[in-house]
Amino acid sequence: MEIEKKLFMQIINPATEEVIATLQEDTKASLQKKYTVLKNVQQAWYEKKLAERVAMLRLFSDELAKEQETLAAVLTSEVGKPLQQSRNEINGARTRIQWMLEHAEKYLAEEWMTLAEGMKEKITYEPLGVICNISAWNYPYLVGVNVFIPALLAGNAVLYKPSEYATLTGLEIKRLLIKAGIPEAVFQVAIGGKETGELLLQLPFDGYYFTGSYKTGRYIYEQAAAKMVPCQLEMGGKDPLYVAEDVTDIKAVAASTADGAFYNNGQSCCAVERIYVHEKVYDDYVTAFVQEVKSWHTGGPNKDSVYIGALTRKEQLQVLAQQVADAVEKGATVLTGGKRINRKGYYFEPTVLTNVTHDMEVMKEESFGPVIGIMKVKDDREALQKMQDTEYGLTASVYTSSQWRAEALLQQINTGTGYWNCCDRVSAAVPWSGRKHSGFGTTLSHIGLRAFTRPKAWHLKGG
Ligand code: NAD
Repeated sequence: MEIEKKLFMQIINPATEEVIATLQEDTKASLQKKYTVLKNVQQAWYEKKLAERVAMLRLFSDELAKEQETLAAVLTSEVGKPLQQSRNEINGARTRIQWMLEHAEKYLAEEWMTLAEGMKEKITYEPLGVICNISAWNYPYLVGVNVFIPALLAGNAVLYKPSEYATLTGLEIKRLLIKAGIPEAVFQVAIGGKETGELLLQLPFDGYYFTGSYKTGRYIYEQAAAKMVPCQLEMGGKDPLYVAEDVTDIKAVAASTADGAFYNNGQSCCAVERIYVHEKVYDDYVTAFVQEVKSWHTGGPNKDSVYIGALTRKEQLQVLAQQVADAVEKGATVLTGGKRINRKGYYFEPTVLTNVTHDMEVMKEESFGPVIGIMKVKDDREALQKMQDTEYGLTASVYTSSQWRAEALLQQINTGTGYWNCCDRVSAAVPWSGRKHSGFGTTLSHIGLRAFTRPKAWHLKGG
């Protein structure tokens, strides 16, 4: 008999660098066992009435509300985001769940397409079976519910692998699903990092749903290809934003766009990563933007006044320092910030760079941190050309007084989402999807509800 070595994973609080938990990682054998349990129970889960699954998931959402303070504290302790942002995330997840529960019947129930005499036709939406969700840490509740809620609603069993940086939250999610009545066997959590993810790729899941970096997503897609099952990838971005000269309140625009760039320390897939400003309003915008950034408090995420907490991963400090060094070497100006904060924990100063060009990493590679480059452009044409200059395709945003002008620009940009006078936002009512290196497939909206199903066509003659 093969004896497997037990591995343990330490959970570190990024705000203090203290070890807050030690967890036993899954092994090949334990993952196989979890998979088998899921496989055995999935059909019975699907055979329950949709209304029953909806009712259980409603209770889950109620539990999130009841335990919000405890859950927010756990989330902050492992990812370092300000406590209020953890509360916001849990509330945001509940809003998404509510939309999905309200629309489940409409989009998952059978649909009669033809009722002609002698030949009736309908579509049913059957679950895929046992799906594997390999997830990220930056918004574990939000990116989690995007997948496991519609997957469970549709009658799938779910193997959920939280990021190794958000495992305590993953375990809380499981605890509350069980509390809400979801059979324990239907939702399993895989504990561990990259190696655990690799082991999951060896199992015969009926679909792979990934949220994370382009590098990992591309690898997962290659591994899943031979299995001939659905594989959906939600990956990074280098999201551009353009401020046109006709905006009326430059201070308000600066505040809104700075929030879009720095909320959650810039660790959002749809965070604003590059800003282009029309030359006529450039100086005023930059002044107001820097003023806004300098007004924020940075520090321990449990303090109420703090807006910039700790970064989640230590390695990102080096990535950001390197992007700043590369930009400065090529001629950029640091208007504020620029370096790691000298204290315990993974803190980086919110950083604003100007005189940036597309030869610099900061304007090409995802920063995923509190660093932004702002560039002057002479007109819409130049803004458009710069915005299009990227391998990514998640979101793009235009601030202008004219809806027509914004839509005319956004329809030429190859992204899954376009924003007019807003940014860094996600809504359950419309699809969330990337293009190019930002991925493919859809979560949220009616399309995301059906993303965990396969349609069956019925041709019913007679009767
Ligand atoms: P990551 O790619 O490092 O890790 C994501 C997940 O993959 C983790 O659970 C990790 O353990 C697992 N993993 C790593 N290597 C693996 C391998 N070889 N095989 C199988 N699994 C493996 O990404 P991350 O740091 O957790 O997340 C940050 C990235 O996610 C950013 O690029 C961000 O933009 C992106 N993101 C995208 C969205 C979106 O909706 N498009 C949402 C959130 C985050």
